[in-house]
Amino acid sequence: MRTVGLLGGMSWESSIEYERIMNEEVRRRLGGTHSADLIVRSYDFAVIEALQERGDWQAAAELLAADARALEAAGAELIVLCTNTMHRVAEAIESALAVPFLHLADATARAVLAAGVDVVALLGTRYTMEEEFYRGRLESHGLEVRIPDAEGRAAVHRVIYEELVRGDVRAESKAAYLEVIDRLLAAGARGVIAGCTEIELLIGPGDVPCPFFPTTRLHALAAVEASLV
Ligand code: GLU
Repeated sequence: MRTVGLLGGMSWESSIEYERIMNEEVRRRLGGTHSADLIVRSYDFAVIEALQERGDWQAAAELLAADARALEAAGAELIVLCTNTMHRVAEAIESALAVPFLHLADATARAVLAAGVDVVALLGTRYTMEEEFYRGRLESHGLEVRIPDAEGRAAVHRVIYEELVRGDVRAESKAAYLEVIDRLLAAGARGVIAGCTEIELLIGPGDVPCPFFPTTRLHALAAVEASLV
């Protein structure tokens, strides 16, 4: 089994889910007392959030690339960045590494295509929904990506930063997300990507009348798959 380096803490509410899912999946596949072989770098998310708000992606790229290299130097044979948003700087991380980097949007796109979905709704932070780095990567797999209207995007983004990354899961926010999803489905989307690693703490596959793509789960399972080759 390959050692996997996790860049986490963005937020820890979701990166502990990465660890849990990866450990459970390794146990399921290998049995006995097997568990995932991990090295974790977990940030103080307030530091990362401040860089995002300032738009200082250069500093964020340098920080994450340096820590990815440190994980590699410590023995990681595969690097996993446990947040959709920070894939904004994925290229800088990948180019700093000699070991593979498992891109979250690629793992997600493969799952969407495998489910036979071609038009997919994307919920996430405003960076993930509005900027090219994530949507473009999904589109490069042949997917058509739909995002909420401006009001919907503001609501989805606010709930992530003001509630979910703080461990605050509210019924009214779940209802607001389901309304946003309903509108996207009515406009032609055939599935929905929970494109922020905390969204699956709020809604699950049983909550929506369409295929649901939880990025934490999909990325964690793809990481286990890659670690067992
Ligand atoms: N975890 C979230 C994501 O997947 C948002 C927090 C962050 O900005 O990293 O995008």
